[in-house]
Amino acid sequence: MTTSPNCKTVLVTGATGFIGSHTVVELLEAGYRVRMVDNLCNSEASVLERIERIAHEHLTHDPKRLGFWPVDVRDSQALEALLASEPIDGVIHFAGLKAVGESFSQAPNYWDNNVGGTMALTQAMAKAHVKRLVFSSSATVYGQAASLPVSEDAPTQVTNPYGRTKLVCEQFLTDWCHASGDGQVALLRYFNPVGAHPSALIGEAPRGVPNNLMPFVTQVAAGIRPALSIFGRDYPTRDGTCIRDYIHVSDLARGHVATMAAMLGLGPHAVTSPDIEPSTQNGPIQTLSGLTVMNFGTGQGVSVQELVDTFERVTGQRVPTLDAPRRQGDVAELYANPQRAHTLLNWRATQTLESMCRDAWAWQSSLP
Ligand code: NAD
Ligand code: UDP
Repeated sequence: MTTSPNCKTVLVTGATGFIGSHTVVELLEAGYRVRMVDNLCNSEASVLERIERIAHEHLTHDPKRLGFWPVDVRDSQALEALLASEPIDGVIHFAGLKAVGESFSQAPNYWDNNVGGTMALTQAMAKAHVKRLVFSSSATVYGQAASLPVSEDAPTQVTNPYGRTKLVCEQFLTDWCHASGDGQVALLRYFNPVGAHPSALIGEAPRGVPNNLMPFVTQVAAGIRPALSIFGRDYPTRDGTCIRDYIHVSDLARGHVATMAAMLGLGPHAVTSPDIEPSTQNGPIQTLSGLTVMNFGTGQGVSVQELVDTFERVTGQRVPTLDAPRRQGDVAELYANPQRAHTLLNWRATQTLESMCRDAWAWQSSLP
C-alpha cells in the first residue's frame, strides 16, 4: 500500500517490545506512518529489521514511513525534540516494566519508569500540542473481580507495585485528559496477550526465566526447561487451576489500530485497502472523545490445564508439569467482558486458543 499524502503519523513507545512490535506491523499495514521509541531495556534492536521484513511491501515505496529512536521516555528533552521534528497525530504508549514479582523488590524503579515515564511523555506531548494518547493498562487493576466477566465499571483493586503503577497512571491520565479540555485518552486494559506474528519473525522474548505462562510452556516444550510448575490445583474452578482470558497479540495489536482510528475520527474505510486482510479492516463505528476505558480480551476463560492440553494437542509437543503451591497474589479467575470495545470500535478478538498456541510454538521454534 502506498502512503497517501494525508497519512497519519503515530508515535509508538516501547515499540520493539512484544505488543509494541506487533502493533507497529498492524499500523504499517493499515497505512500509518510510524515513529518507534524504545530504550531497549527489555527488547533487541534487531526487532526493527524484523518488522521491516514483515512490512517490506508497505515500506518499499516510502521507507520513511518507519523511523526508530533509541530513546528513554523519561528523557523529556529527547522526546520534545522528536515531537518537534514532525507533526505527530497520536501516541501509543507501551514503554514500561511489567514483571509483577520483580516489582516488589524494584518498586522505586517501577514507579520511576512506569509513572515517571508516563508523566515525562505527557509533558513533552503537551509542549508539542499532541493530544491523543493510547495507554497500555492491565486487567491486573481489577484484582479478583466480584463478578465475571468483568466490565470496565467494576471497582479497581491492586495487589502489587506493578499494578499500582498502572492504576496510578490511569488516574493521572484521567486528570491529564480532563485538564487539557480537548485531550483524547484511551486506557486499554489487556487481559493475557500470548501468541506471536504468524511469520514467526517477532514474538515474546523474555530475558531469563519467563514469568508468564505461555513463554514458560513453549520453553518447556523446547526442552529449555524440564517442567512447568502449575501454581495451584486447589482453586474453586472447573479443574482446580486458575482461569484467565488469553488473547492473541495480533488481535490486541489490531485493537490499538482501531482505537487510534476512532480517536482520529477515521471511518471504517479510511485506512483500508484491497491488499489488507479483511480481518484488519474493522473500522471504528464512532469517534472517541475525552476519556475511554476499554477491556481487550476474548471474553473466554481458559484454565492453566486447558491451555497446556491445547498446546500439546496443537503442537504435538509434550509439556511435563509439576504441581506447585499457589503463586502469591494470583486471583482464581479473571476474564473480560469485551463488549465496549466491540460497540465503540467494531473490534473483537478473532483468533482461537489453538492459533495462539500454534503461533507461540512457531516463534519459539524459530529461535536459536
Ligand atoms: P515488553 O517488555 O516486551 O515491551 C516493553 C518495551 O518498553 C520494551 O521493549 C522495553 O525495552 C521498553 N521500555 C521499558 N521502559 C522504557 C523506557 N523508560 N523508555 C523507553 N522504552 C522503555 O512488554 P509488553 O508485553 O510488550 O508490554 C507492553 C505494555 O503493555 C507494558 O506497559 C505492559 O505493562 C503492558 N501490559 C502487558 C501485558 C502482558 O502480559 N504482556 C499485560 C497487560 C499490560
Ligand atoms: N502460571 C503457572 N505456572 C507458570 C506461570 C504461570 O501455573 O509458570 C499460572 C499463573 O498462576 C496464572 C496463569 O498461569 O494462573 C497465568 O499467569 P501469567 O503470569 O501468564 O498471567 P497473570 O497471572 O498476569 O494473569
